[in-house]
Amino acid sequence: MDRKIETKTVKKALESAGYLAKVTHGKGTAWGWLTVALDIPRHYECSCGDPDEYGRRETCDNCKDKWRKTDASILETVKRVTGRHQPVEYDGNIAIHLGFV
Ligand SMILES: [Zn+2]
Repeated sequence: MDRKIETKTVKKALESAGYLAKVTHGKGTAWGWLTVALDIPRHYECSCGDPDEYGRRETCDNCKDKWRKTDASILETVKRVTGRHQPVEYDGNIAIHLGFV
């Protein structure tokens, strides 16, 4: 699939699934990679700890669960609309950068 068309297709599909993501293609040695980046709100029943002096914090089970489900759902959507399935070990060269707001 043409890279520009692929970017648009993925952005649109994720938008209809409720995700406002940044979709980019790799350059150089990462040429074949498609990267999806977005931040999601924490779980509504979040009990993540406060950040420590280094800015890190414990991620609660609810947020871990939400993160896993969102990551899997985005991956499935991207695979479905792009037909990217190979190589299997790299999830079709799809990288998902998912963070919490
Ligand atoms: Zn949490």
